[in-house]
Amino acid sequence: MQSVSNCVICHAPISKSSAGVIAPFLARRVWNASSFPVKLMHCEGCGFKFFNPRLDGDEEKRLYADYRSEEYQKLRQSYEPWYSKSFNEGLSAATGMKVRKDTLRRVLSPHLAGLQIRTILDFGGNRGELIEDLIPNAERYVFDISNLETLPGIGHLRGKEDCKGRPWDLVICSNVLEHVGDPQRTMEEISEISNMGTLIFIEVPQESPAGLKNIAKRLTQLAILMVTRPSIGLRLFRPALIYLMHEHVNFFCPKALRHLVNALHWEIVADGQYDISSYKFGIYRVTSGTMTWCLARKP
Ligand SMILES: [Zn+2]
Repeated sequence: MQSVSNCVICHAPISKSSAGVIAPFLARRVWNASSFPVKLMHCEGCGFKFFNPRLDGDEEKRLYADYRSEEYQKLRQSYEPWYSKSFNEGLSAATGMKVRKDTLRRVLSPHLAGLQIRTILDFGGNRGELIEDLIPNAERYVFDISNLETLPGIGHLRGKEDCKGRPWDLVICSNVLEHVGDPQRTMEEISEISNMGTLIFIEVPQESPAGLKNIAKRLTQLAILMVTRPSIGLRLFRPALIYLMHEHVNFFCPKALRHLVNALHWEIVADGQYDISSYKFGIYRVTSGTMTWCLARKP
């Protein structure tokens, strides 16, 4: 792990933090250890929030190797009883993925109109589900540290070096930066493999670790653990549970994402936010989450 004292996005010194704790599953999978305390850092410069200490590259590889495989699911369910086989399969099921694909197409289409997109790279794109049919006739490739086999028709690039020297028209990085220990380094890697004129689409969840939805989720999970896994539940039974470090180690706001993009001097083509899904509950509209995104061009 690596400890930092400044914001990993804007480098402002951090003076505000909250007590947090590592999820027991994460501690076991990455360090073969029991859960231990961490801190959630609040940057007052750019609004970014992140857990500290941070995962290093080797730890990220251990966490995401064979991501969501049978072995991953079984270990996770032994700590988190709700993470069943069907739940795991549902995360990449065609129905949920269709919503993500349709949304991406809707967000990108107005900005790609009239452009020739012949090559797409999904950086951190798992098996290539998101870009499978995004743009007809484009050559599609995936680079992902999980190294899972890609879907038919989608090229599998096994290393970052393999991504370089190719004429990328569009690079997509969706739901990745909230997982990585050094988001700025990841953005630099994307810049290194892009060419002059490459369009780069970045999107991250816009979420608050102290939001009501997150607190309700943690309390529900604690209640389940107290009944089904009391030894794990009792270890987590403390205020720091609210800030549980799991796979999301970073919490973005539009300002923090924009700061990352500006630091690379990319030209911002468009940016914005969208709700992942929403439904009406009486007079209220309930959203299950918000994404913040940016489309930029490498000059
Ligand atoms: Zn900051």
